[in-house]
Amino acid sequence: MAIKLFDSLTREIRELQPSHPDGVLRFYNCGPTVYAPAHIGNFRAFVINDVLRRLLDLEFGPGRVKHVRNLTDVDDKTIRRAREEGRPLAAVTQQWTEKFHADCAALNCLSPHVEPTATGHIREQVDMIDVLMQKGNAYRAADGSVYFKVSSFDHYGELSRVKERELKLGSALKAAAADADEKEDVSDFALWKAHKDEDGANSWESPWGRGRPGWHIECSAMSKKHLGETIDLHTGGVDLLFPHHENEIAQSQCCNGVTFSRHWFHNEHLLVDGKKMSKSEGTLYTLDDLTAKGFSPMAVRYTLLMGHPRKQLNFTLDSLHAAEKALATLRAFRATLPATGGDPDVFAHEFAVLRDDLNLPEALGALFKVVNDKGLKVNATAFDRVMSVLGLDLQAVARKAAAPAAITALADKRWAVKQAKDFAAADALRKELAAAGWSMLDRKDGYSLEPLKK
Ligand code: AMP
Ligand code: ZN
Repeated sequence: MAIKLFDSLTREIRELQPSHPDGVLRFYNCGPTVYAPAHIGNFRAFVINDVLRRLLDLEFGPGRVKHVRNLTDVDDKTIRRAREEGRPLAAVTQQWTEKFHADCAALNCLSPHVEPTATGHIREQVDMIDVLMQKGNAYRAADGSVYFKVSSFDHYGELSRVKERELKLGSALKAAAADADEKEDVSDFALWKAHKDEDGANSWESPWGRGRPGWHIECSAMSKKHLGETIDLHTGGVDLLFPHHENEIAQSQCCNGVTFSRHWFHNEHLLVDGKKMSKSEGTLYTLDDLTAKGFSPMAVRYTLLMGHPRKQLNFTLDSLHAAEKALATLRAFRATLPATGGDPDVFAHEFAVLRDDLNLPEALGALFKVVNDKGLKVNATAFDRVMSVLGLDLQAVARKAAAPAAITALADKRWAVKQAKDFAAADALRKELAAAGWSMLDRKDGYSLEPLKK
């Protein structure tokens, strides 16, 4: 059974197949902007793409999927951050790239095969803009910026149906027009931004003068360089449909004269407590925010898998508690499984629903049906295959984020008095731990600490 996935361009669920004669499926996923830690909404996108990558690897075999995910390391946000901190841009983006890699590893996301950076591909971006200038799809404004002429591309708006949404977008376009009066038309977008004082050292020479690339051109240039002119799959969150992906299509197709991506897939957003994440309301969580509360990164991954990728998912601390429980159940189940024997197809439904438009909640539901059905015979190999495609590392669950030192000190003290059979002191210390938000679970050979459900 082939992998089928919703295609945002045709609005149909379609089969995914490589189109190149070498049989390698070319997959481009828009990556992070590296100026701050990624939040769990970003990680919803990366974890979903990771399951997709794992499923594609399984379907087409090792070496038959080429996965590229870029790093946006020069744009308004990265430059502003470097300026505010008085540091070189590269120091800021390197710091946050390392943090992104560490978080991805903790969430058990596979590394892409290529992770190109925008600053490492200035020449490729300039070359593409040059072709667009020669073909009449772009023009240089008086200040040295270069804009893409949207009216030169008949298919503009087909991905996001932007023409149908134009009325709604009216005010946004007016706002854009106010600060971009160099453009011939408000909907034109920047391919090259002329140097401004606030850019500091972050500009490069080009045939149009010093400047830096606009954001959208980097993905067109980097996917062309690493995957070729026509790719098989392009993904990102729904916020990238317009203008980012719409602009990528326009640039790439006008430059190369062929279809840019044969399939487009967009994950819906993660909400927190039913609303858009907000820094001021304390709901813009990073992975560190959650591990500091005692949750394991694997529980964060599990929570991000709980919803259908094409539906919004509401994240709450309760859902994280539920994820920790689910993982504990899976770990306990795994410990009971024999290495061989049983029905090798017992998880056929799980794989079938994942192949059918990445139906994660249905796959998790089916998995727990198997776990709870005492009559079924399951072997460890079959179970591990499901864990592997979901990227759930059950060993990592045990390596929980450590409780703060003050809490472990209290727990150690309580363990000692309990061993000495001073139960009154042990009870008093348990209350003290509970007041600090921790529950201590005693076992024969030691204890573990769990954050208390709030
Ligand atoms: P950025 O670093 O802002 O370019 O975002 C990286 C990825 O995260 C992109 O694919 C975005 O579409 C995606 N993204 C941003 N916010 C959310 C969210 N709340 N839920 C899911 N995906 C998101
Ligand atoms: Zn992109």
